[in-house]
Amino acid sequence: MMETKDYIYFDNSATTSLCPEARAAMARAMEDYGNPSSLHGAGMKAHETLEGARASVFASLGIRNPRSGGSLLFTSCGTEASNTALIGCAFAKERRESDLIITTDSEHPSVANTVKYLESHGFRAVRISTRGGRLDFDMLEKALREKPFMISMMMVNNETGAVYDVKRAFAMAKAANENVVTHCDAVQGYLKVRFTPQAIGADLMTVSAHKIHGPKGVGALYISPAVTTARKLTGFIHGGGQEGGMRPGTENMIGIAGFGAAAEAGMKNFAANVERMTAIRDYAEQKLSELELTMNIPAGDRAPHILNITLPSIKSETMLHYLSQNGICVSSGSACSSRAAHPSESLIAFGLTPAEADHSLRISFCEYNTEAEVDKLYECLKQGIATLVRTGK
Ligand code: PLP
Repeated sequence: MMETKDYIYFDNSATTSLCPEARAAMARAMEDYGNPSSLHGAGMKAHETLEGARASVFASLGIRNPRSGGSLLFTSCGTEASNTALIGCAFAKERRESDLIITTDSEHPSVANTVKYLESHGFRAVRISTRGGRLDFDMLEKALREKPFMISMMMVNNETGAVYDVKRAFAMAKAANENVVTHCDAVQGYLKVRFTPQAIGADLMTVSAHKIHGPKGVGALYISPAVTTARKLTGFIHGGGQEGGMRPGTENMIGIAGFGAAAEAGMKNFAANVERMTAIRDYAEQKLSELELTMNIPAGDRAPHILNITLPSIKSETMLHYLSQNGICVSSGSACSSRAAHPSESLIAFGLTPAEADHSLRISFCEYNTEAEVDKLYECLKQGIATLVRTGK
């Protein structure tokens, strides 16, 4: 059971509540405060917690045998994991065959802005269109002729919930050049969509704890054995030998313990959670379709937890505040950019005009949401549309 709260929370793509398993594991890690690098008993206990959490996150990625399955770096968040993947690959020891990176036009800023950073250091980028929620494979085929050293594509778009066919994209990239490194930002697909890094052909994969009912401030980067053997990735934090020297710094043990527990609980309840999220999203979709608004539904596969809508004549920020005053939390774009003045690049890439993007809201669910909460959202949106349109806001 989750504790009662005085608001209705439909912003689970921004972050989620802590699950009881994560809370308990974090409380234990607060008591067992040893440094996992220390050689005494307290250190060994912390080391066991660290490796236990790593095994749980590995297992949640479908990897049962961490020894042969690759490595997993704990990082400070998903953003750091993706920075490590892109910058670490761009500046790796292995000589790159080109200076080209292929990505999409609707990545989360953690990838989009890292690509821009690399461009400012002389790299080139091609951004594949994701109009309507689908990758443009003709555009990809042409771009692959230029032999990129890396391809980085998200699994699930954080604003529309579109599931991109990264498996097909990565297979095409490897067929064009087996040396290309494939990276997938799986933060929004993690424990929402069934996948393993091997099944989709990802050499590198980013996940984050706080989107799966774990704590904020901890993420992980999966690294395939092939990338490590070929020395195609280098760390950019310098210090001691933690995380195999790739990501030094004393580990965030409380966060990592919570991540491991959330990953384990999420794995155990995967099917039931997805079924629950899908049901609640479908209920919301059916209910809200009675209102004067447009739904931005991806043309292909969709994740179970995201519904994006466009209001005809009310700015998203105005409606967001109206809902918030009535105790309902939704979002007007990705949490990191929702305070930014410019319209969402993801929604523009999806095919919305800047004005439409400026009138859009993201409603995102988790398995704890209820139909009664959706009914309240419906009533509130209905009143909001009538009131805010009437007052000309
Ligand atoms: N990638 C996607 C698709 C996201 O939605 C987010 C967070 O919103 C991130 C990366 C960043 O994860 P973190 O908040 O752990 O840095």
